Amino acid sequence: MKPEHYVGGAFSGDGERDFPLIDPVDGTERGRVPEASRETVDAAVRAARRALQGPWGAASPQDRAAALREIADGVEARFEEFVDAEAADTGKPRDLAATVDIPRAVGNFRAYADLLYGRGEHAYTTRVPGWSGGTGEALNYTVRRPLGVVAVISPWNLPLLLLTWKVAPALAAGNAVVAKPSEQTPSTATLLADVIHGTGLPAGAFNLVHGHGPGAAGEFLTGHPGVDAIAFTGESATGAAIMRNAAEHVTPVSFELGGKNPALIFADADLDKALDGTVRSTFTHSGQICLCTERVYVERPVFAEFTAALAERARALRDYGPMISAAHRDKVLSYYRLAVEEGATVAAGGGVPAFGDRRDGGFYVEPTVLTGLPETARVVREEIFGPVCHVAPFDTEEEAVRLANDSPYGLAATVWTSDLSRAHRVAPRVEAGIVWVNCWNLRDLRTPFGGVKASGIGREGGEYSLDFFSEPVNVCVQI
Ligand code: NAD
Repeated sequence: MKPEHYVGGAFSGDGERDFPLIDPVDGTERGRVPEASRETVDAAVRAARRALQGPWGAASPQDRAAALREIADGVEARFEEFVDAEAADTGKPRDLAATVDIPRAVGNFRAYADLLYGRGEHAYTTRVPGWSGGTGEALNYTVRRPLGVVAVISPWNLPLLLLTWKVAPALAAGNAVVAKPSEQTPSTATLLADVIHGTGLPAGAFNLVHGHGPGAAGEFLTGHPGVDAIAFTGESATGAAIMRNAAEHVTPVSFELGGKNPALIFADADLDKALDGTVRSTFTHSGQICLCTERVYVERPVFAEFTAALAERARALRDYGPMISAAHRDKVLSYYRLAVEEGATVAAGGGVPAFGDRRDGGFYVEPTVLTGLPETARVVREEIFGPVCHVAPFDTEEEAVRLANDSPYGLAATVWTSDLSRAHRVAPRVEAGIVWVNCWNLRDLRTPFGGVKASGIGREGGEYSLDFFSEPVNVCVQI
């Protein structure tokens, strides 16, 4: 299905200004994507507002849960089509899309449908003597009201997973949505609109516009006076630009941003497990997951052994995908070069692989392991978002925590140790929103998800998302 906008229950985009959709595997053009004009974005926001004034605005939590389940079933019924589209847009191995992206997207809709039953509309009730401003007793109850029209802006790395991670709770809480996926990965979002078109979700409750960010659809949407909240996942610098734009109308934001995630590997860890986990956390989706490890700190007695083993595993990787674009490939390669200029030892990779087939026209870089850089090096401080990590030794638990926290970012971390007390001592001291102990990317969708420092604002997941996407309103009745 070719990318199209979906506004007020109708598909559009033909004959508009458009741009090419590039296959990251071989660099060829796969199709064209319509670029939403300011008028298209405005029409989407107005359609969303109308939906709130119609049946969608009156839908009960049960109605909304039923709508979410219908969408989940609809995506599942076209599972293979979704997997193909996600793999084609991103270049990621098909297996990754089939085991992570699409099942999680389905799971996102089901998780929030489940939560709605337990929650209802009422958040809090008290019956108290009047404390101030009156006499007698009062009954206070708090209802949660949807925010209204919510803008969802998502990145290219886990396109449908991250889009639905916001769309599902936004709809669950009773909002109408205008979503803009990354310009580089428009296909599964369009398929989702097609699924939604076939469900009972009222027209305008979900709208989709395609296009770029700065000076284009993303900016038109986040600066629109009719948008009541913005949920964004992407780079920290983009978050800052969106925040400036949103400031005009004091629009609330939920931000999931970049990271420079540390792994702390203690000598007492099960080192085979730590190695497997660090290979996964560094190289899954060629490092293009916000939760991926880019800084590895290893306790000195096992540093040389661990680094050599990690480098060997990196060299042995075969079935990996490309960077999303030529520009991103060039950015990652510029960090590979900078690492050498800054004095790194390249333990594995560092260049561009040669396959001898069509992939040589694509945007691949080698899985790379670096060592020997000071903590002040740009390669150790800045998010690269590629299949690369820097490995450094540490001597004490105190030093490990200090190194982990010496970063402008704070999204996720891993701690590998078999000392239970140490795990519980270290994990809460790491300045990150998510700390995994002896595992990575093990997710319960009800838990808080988000980052500290430059890695984000707010938390999503379970009740945390429903809280962001709704507003508590207290009603006080004198008895
Ligand atoms: P990006 O910030 O370049 O783009 C993300 C989205 O924002 C796209 O849809 C883009 O079109 C839009 N956009 C760009 N500029 C905009 C502007 N000025 N106004 C409005 N919209 C704008 O990010 P990306 O390159 O697509 O994704 C990679 C980044 O996302 C990495 O930094 C990664 O760490 C981060 N990320 C974070 C999480 C998380 O949960 N914290 C998850 C995935 C990715």
